[in-house]
Amino acid sequence: MFKLAEEHQNKAIEIIERHKLKKTCNVCYDRGYVGHTLENLVIPCHKCVDNEAIMKEWKEYVAQVPELREFYHEMFEEEHDDEEAEKDSETKDKKKIVEELGLKDKSREKILPGKTKEARVKNIEHRSKNR
Ligand SMILES: [Zn+2]
Repeated sequence: MFKLAEEHQNKAIEIIERHKLKKTCNVCYDRGYVGHTLENLVIPCHKCVDNEAIMKEWKEYVAQVPELREFYHEMFEEEHDDEEAEKDSETKDKKKIVEELGLKDKSREKILPGKTKEARVKNIEHRSKNR
């Protein structure tokens, strides 16, 4: 998994500190950020930091660092976002259908093994009588 190196993390905090709009803040205890993600990405405070300004500056920084540029590639492909999202949801739908079919196959297997055709017919008759 991607982990943000400490030097980049420090840079992120530096950028955040430059764009703090308030001197005191009880959301982030004046730090300007509220924590880290699993990737070590700094989570800026939404209350006292100019998020637009830090994202702009962070993007400029990321553009200079190949490994970060790769991780944040979506940030540099904004124009293709809609197209990509459409493709994604299409793939997910297909996956879902396959999963559903898989489930149906499994439930059929539960009835089939070890039973003769006759037994299966009886089983179906029995079930339809109960309805
Ligand atoms: Zn804050």
